[in-house]
Amino acid sequence: MHPDLARYLRQQIELGGPEVYVPRSVFRVPRSETPPALPAPAIEDPASEPSVTTRRLDFPLADAERGTRNAEPAAQGFVPKWKKDAPPIPGPGLTVLPPDPTLVDEVNGLDSLEAVAAMISGCRKCVLCQTRTNTVPGEGNPNARLMCVGEGPGATEDETGRPFVGAAGQLLDQILGAIECPRDTVYIANIVKCRPPGNRKPLPDEATSCLPYLHRQIALVRPRVLLAMGGTAAEWMLGVKRSLGDLRGKVHRFAGIPLIVTYHPAALLRNPNWKKPTWDDVRIARQLLEIG
Ligand code: URA
Repeated sequence: MHPDLARYLRQQIELGGPEVYVPRSVFRVPRSETPPALPAPAIEDPASEPSVTTRRLDFPLADAERGTRNAEPAAQGFVPKWKKDAPPIPGPGLTVLPPDPTLVDEVNGLDSLEAVAAMISGCRKCVLCQTRTNTVPGEGNPNARLMCVGEGPGATEDETGRPFVGAAGQLLDQILGAIECPRDTVYIANIVKCRPPGNRKPLPDEATSCLPYLHRQIALVRPRVLLAMGGTAAEWMLGVKRSLGDLRGKVHRFAGIPLIVTYHPAALLRNPNWKKPTWDDVRIARQLLEIG
């Protein structure tokens, strides 16, 4: 038996999951056109001096933090850093059906990301419009295979109208670079498109009013994998109120698209202990991209 398959089955037994091997095709998301190839990997020369940003943010993890789980024998040829000791793809989690289009007709009629952004710029559906400087609709590659979703804009995002450009954004860039999905290849959005005052959590009516925009963005981009970053993104995308610990480590599905839950980059800045689990989560997402 292939060691990867044996490892996967052992993990399923430990998790109490069914002892079956999930074929690759289960994770495929139907698309009418061939997706663009991933960009050429930004190969890091291990002998070279790491950049200032790499040293400061330390992503991927230093050897001491990486642990020995799933250590593989030295492979022949080049193995990308994110793939070395990557955790196996976990079992299935929640399945969320796409929202009923008839309920969100206004947004559902929009046929481009630009049109969605234009509608967001004039949105007055909740009180967040009263305190915003700019709306932050989201940005990125319209054909992205990976779509990252955060909570809502912070101060820098509100000033610039761009998602994840503050400190958390710099860390997100680092994480994306580490899995060889640089920022310009992904799409980045948030649950709410206007900054909640004082960076508070979006209130339920704010998130509910804003969600149709995100749903439309997902439908237009049609990513292969969704990454929900933080509890707010996970809860609103999956429609459940559960702890992050409960939602991590599973392959959920939103409208058929595999959805991985991980920590919010801002949480990692506060608690570096969450770097290791985040590194595991994003490598699961990256493996799903490879097989999707
Ligand atoms: N945090 C978020 O959740 N989104 C952003 O765009 C920036 C910080």
